[in-house]
Amino acid sequence: MTPASTLSLGLPAARYRAHRAALDAAAAAVFAGGQFILGPQVAAFESEFAAALGLPHCAGVASGTDALELALRACGVEPGSAVLTVPFTATGTVAAIERAGAVPVWVDIDPATGTLDPASLEATVAAYAAAGDRARRAPLRAVLPVHLYGHPADLPALLAIAARHGLRVIEDCAQAHGAALEGRPAGSWGDAAAFSFYPTKNLGAFGDGGAVATRDPEIDRRVRRLREYGWTTRHVSAEPGLNSRLDELQAALLRVLLPHLPAENAARRAAADVYTERLRDSGLALPVTRPGAVHAFHQYVVRAPAREALQAALAARGLPTQVLYPVPAHLQPAYRGRFFAGPAGLPHSEAAARSVLSLPISPHLSPADLEHVAAAVRGALGLPA
Ligand SMILES: *Cc1c(COP(=O)(O)O)cnc(C)c1O
Repeated sequence: MTPASTLSLGLPAARYRAHRAALDAAAAAVFAGGQFILGPQVAAFESEFAAALGLPHCAGVASGTDALELALRACGVEPGSAVLTVPFTATGTVAAIERAGAVPVWVDIDPATGTLDPASLEATVAAYAAAGDRARRAPLRAVLPVHLYGHPADLPALLAIAARHGLRVIEDCAQAHGAALEGRPAGSWGDAAAFSFYPTKNLGAFGDGGAVATRDPEIDRRVRRLREYGWTTRHVSAEPGLNSRLDELQAALLRVLLPHLPAENAARRAAADVYTERLRDSGLALPVTRPGAVHAFHQYVVRAPAREALQAALAARGLPTQVLYPVPAHLQPAYRGRFFAGPAGLPHSEAAARSVLSLPISPHLSPADLEHVAAAVRGALGLPA
């Protein structure tokens, strides 16, 4: 019997197949050890993940959304304040800002990379300050760039603008494990970075998980306090916190996978190179990597003017594809009309939502899988094989 193609298997199952013996052994050791929440595996994973980022601190939490919420709170984003971010992102980014008691202020994306556009950030900060009704306006406290699809945002430009306006920078690294810019890991630039270990991420657990990484010992201390009821010592809460803990099983499994992340990201980049080479003449807008950036290729995203037709033609060829994201947050029922955007609006976020299409990418796709995808796209577009 031939094994199922990793194309139809999906990333979490392919990941298990690739690392099965080590994962089984790690899980068995946790079951036998009898400690399941915030134990030695979590502590070891925290220091190994921090080291991979070149940072002194990392705290495991229950999800990427929680990591963002706790990072915001630990950076001093108080209830009633405002956080600049993009609407073209996973809903978790926006949910975390509201969970911290703050409100998002929308900034548009750079259409080339899909990440927060520094020029739009500058213009939005100015428009927010100039808009009427200033007394009732939530003060701007932080900017939350998202390293969308694994491409780092323009961190040098964003940090300079943030410093000028006294804003904290919290990086949403949920799609950017192992990405880098100018030789520095994504997640090591801002005041704090939030990671998700949701099973489909580049570093993914077998359940929910997340982490906050930082170079600031005060931020780390505050995250550790908040993740367990605001406790300073057991059963004594210094401030209202929550229950957001990483468990031993997930940490042990993540420790098995972490050493493979660099090679797996390199395999993603090699897969991206195959697609880009095969689709160069397709008329689709293909992903770009900015000079100095190391792209983690969490997603390989093309832009197609007739996206729905292409997606249907690919489905007819047996190739399911994803749209990340079909509706930007500022147009979703939960958020529509509630938050500030600059006078230029959010045209690049809206255009991206209409045209993006993710082709399957993972470190576990075979050369035959990649060729199958490329051939399906060419066929769907009516191009010669
Ligand atoms: C996955 C994701 C999140 C949320 O992470 P969870 O672990 O699912 O809570 C936040 N932001 C981005 C950009 C994501 O991709």
